[in-house]
Amino acid sequence: MEIKEQLYEGKAKKVYATEDPAIVMVHYKDDATAGDGAKKGTIQDKGVVNNRLSNALMQRLELEGIPTHYVQELNDRDTLVKRVQIVPLEVIIRNVAAGSFSKRYGVEEGTVLSAPTLEFSYKNDDLHDPLINHYHALALDLATQAELDTIATYAFKVNEVLKKILLEANIRLIDFKLEFGRLEDGTIILADEISPDTCRFWDAITGAHLDKDLFRRDLGGEAGAYQEVMHRLLNQ
Ligand code: UDP
Repeated sequence: MEIKEQLYEGKAKKVYATEDPAIVMVHYKDDATAGDGAKKGTIQDKGVVNNRLSNALMQRLELEGIPTHYVQELNDRDTLVKRVQIVPLEVIIRNVAAGSFSKRYGVEEGTVLSAPTLEFSYKNDDLHDPLINHYHALALDLATQAELDTIATYAFKVNEVLKKILLEANIRLIDFKLEFGRLEDGTIILADEISPDTCRFWDAITGAHLDKDLFRRDLGGEAGAYQEVMHRLLNQ
């Protein structure tokens, strides 16, 4: 597949056109940001880990009936995915209180929630991705009722599948963020990435952070932790 011009550059990835208008190539970078862009840095080989891990997890999710954008891994940092129009929502699922949920609701980090929960943020950098509810999403025409229903169903299913895969690798899935997209015909599929950048992973035995919180909170050891997650999940 011939790779063409760069379409977009984000904080962690670049996107290129291909000869097929329905397919784009994602290139994963090592660049990391946190705190709404206030902290910038790199995490060595993060792009390799996120590319390979996200692809492997999306393939497992496909087998469980979740449609995803994954098409083909080209190399350590580049992957072909289906071109979608991104639904401008960050879909966050939580099993255990952490981060902004703990702050907002005054719940100690590590408290197991009585039920997995879902929240939406409006993907809008100028507004700093504000928390919104289902009714706001409809009122702002971000998605239809049917799309929101599909997204919620898929998101909770992704949670169940990922929790199981991770626990087999002695990793607890605390929370994570998903993004969905629309194909040309309107079909909703899982897009973006699933990685230690977008999930909170805690070691099931020691409770150690194995995710971007090491970078966000200046705890150190993030490059090693990303490698550790890849070794445990991909056996390499
Ligand atoms: N998250 C993300 N991108 C964002 C915000 C959150 O991938 O822009 C992920 C984050 O890694 C965590 C989950 O979503 O796994 C919940 O994050 P939270 O709302 O607690 O935000 P934070 O405390 O990181 O600001």
